Amino acid sequence: MEFKRCARCGCFFTSANDVCCNCETKDRQDIYNLNNYIVTSPNNISIDNLSASTGISMKNISRFIENKAISNL
Ligand SMILES: [Zn+2]
Repeated sequence: MEFKRCARCGCFFTSANDVCCNCETKDRQDIYNLNNYIVTSPNNISIDNLSASTGISMKNISRFIENKAISNL
C-alpha cells in the first residue's frame, strides 16, 4: 500500500480511497445530501448553485462528480 494524501483534510493515509477513514463518513454524508438535493431540484442545476444550497465546497462536489458518486447534473 502506498501513502496517499486525503482529498478533504490533507492527512496521509493508506487506502484505495481518495479520502482518509475520518473523512469517508463526511463524504458519505455530503453525497447523501447532494443526491437528495439533486432529485428534488429542477434540471440543469449548476455546481455553484449546489454548493451554495448545500454548503458543500465546489472542490468536493467536483470530486464526487469525477468519482461518479452523485447523480448527473
Ligand atoms: Zn481526511
